[in-house]
Amino acid sequence: MKAIHISSILERLCIQNVSGTSPSITSFSPVDGKAIATVPITTRVDYEALVGKAGVAFSQWKQVPAPKRGEIVRQIGDALRLHKQDLGRLVSYEMGKSLQEGLGEVQEMIDICDFAVGLSRQLYGLTTQSERPAHRMFEQWLPLGIVGIISAFNFPVAVWSWNAAIAWVCGNVCLWKPSEKTPITALACQKIVSEIFNRNDLPQEISCLIQGDAELGKQMASDPRIPLLSATGSTRMGKSVAQAVAARLGRTILELGGNNAIIITPHADTKTALLASVFGAVGTAGQRCTTTRRLIIHESIYESFKVQLVDAYKQLKIGNPLDEANHVGPLIDEAAVNSYLEAIKRCKQEGGKFIVEGGVLKGDGYPSPCYVKPCIAEVEPHYKIVQQETFAPILYVMKYKDLEEAIAIQNNVPQGLSSAIMTLNLREAEHFLSVNGSDCGIANVNIGTSGAEIGGAFGGEKETGGGRESGSDAWKAYMRRQTNTINYSDKLPLAQGITFNL
Ligand code: NAD
Repeated sequence: MKAIHISSILERLCIQNVSGTSPSITSFSPVDGKAIATVPITTRVDYEALVGKAGVAFSQWKQVPAPKRGEIVRQIGDALRLHKQDLGRLVSYEMGKSLQEGLGEVQEMIDICDFAVGLSRQLYGLTTQSERPAHRMFEQWLPLGIVGIISAFNFPVAVWSWNAAIAWVCGNVCLWKPSEKTPITALACQKIVSEIFNRNDLPQEISCLIQGDAELGKQMASDPRIPLLSATGSTRMGKSVAQAVAARLGRTILELGGNNAIIITPHADTKTALLASVFGAVGTAGQRCTTTRRLIIHESIYESFKVQLVDAYKQLKIGNPLDEANHVGPLIDEAAVNSYLEAIKRCKQEGGKFIVEGGVLKGDGYPSPCYVKPCIAEVEPHYKIVQQETFAPILYVMKYKDLEEAIAIQNNVPQGLSSAIMTLNLREAEHFLSVNGSDCGIANVNIGTSGAEIGGAFGGEKETGGGRESGSDAWKAYMRRQTNTINYSDKLPLAQGITFNL
């Protein structure tokens, strides 16, 4: 196993430990329970000063032509390429995901920068036909101002970049509050991008970082100087943010909890279905918004699939995520371990039967109290616990008789993020994607629920919040649309044929 030399990584990423009396957050790694570094918490006075500077930075940044803004984002992408190994290792160590996933997360940041560079030359508006002679109508897209970003611990850097890279080419400045559980990776990103803005004689406050917990997030939500707040996290957080932002008629992008299911039909390629189910359920120790939480399996293959699933779980290696031999790392903290244990208890109380038992792992090879066993329970779809998202590797399996029933089970939860069907049958696949099929923001065929490419618009429905980030035309949420009409005649014809003679 490769050892992680965290102090040299922090040094290369220019991260200094603060010490002193001011309020601060110390980040502990779930990998080995050790303190990584301490950062100061943003006070109200610091916040006010920074938002003021962000406003000034916006007045400069919005004047820079969009393709030139894209050039700056291109440089950020290059800087991330340079720091990929260090940042990826830090992500793994601070969040607890595997090294491959940590590096993959940084790769997503690089990819979204590339996407944003291309986009910077394509922020197209429409030209429309005017009903009046000698008039020209068109629409243009203009930047919003300060875009607030609140992110969750499980994608400590990628979600920020999905928002920031797009927001920047659109001409906005960003104010980022990362999760209080992953402040160090955020600081590393801030150092990387500040260097690029400095080098280009641009204000650093095009990218602002603030550190703190839910209270600081609430402050952002009620701040009218932030016209758009993109918030990623639990549905509980989203409901609070949505109300506060709506009360001031601001805009939100909400990326909240999921309760994702895979339907496995008798026409599935079993090998693909098994791999997708296991990776989807245990990858990132079940701490992805797109984690597979439910398997809805046709009754004719239920027993045989279950046997293969149990067998696959026996082969899982749990341990230090920086060791590439391990499949599953730790949960983020002991509170997450407690939620996992509580969900198992409640599932059993409702009648769930565990075919792979859960539990906390202790002893050699588990240097923190956050390592748990991925587990599988046979359940009925209506159990209350099955309706909820537990952010841990607990997989619920259930049977169905016909596809209509399977789709109804899949849709009959409050969340609507990601969904999948495993089938080689064209009719089943198309039905799942039709108006009578999945009600989720993401619906896949022969791919699991977990993971998404940056080129698509990412997000979900219902209690997942309804926002879209990343690719496709998600950029439109980061701009305001202005409809323009120019009259180049010497008359003033009114719309709708109205005459107004003076
Ligand atoms: P969380 O809701 O506890 O915290 C997320 C962020 O919101 C943190 O920065 C936190 O400080 C802040 N916050 C919490 N309450 C707030 C409030 N009332 N007002 C303003 N800010 C507040 O979530 P978490 O435990 O960090 O992350 C796990 C959750 O995030 C899961 O539910 C997961 O599904 C969800 N998630 C969703 C997506 C998505 O794209 N849909 C992506 C990643 C994670």
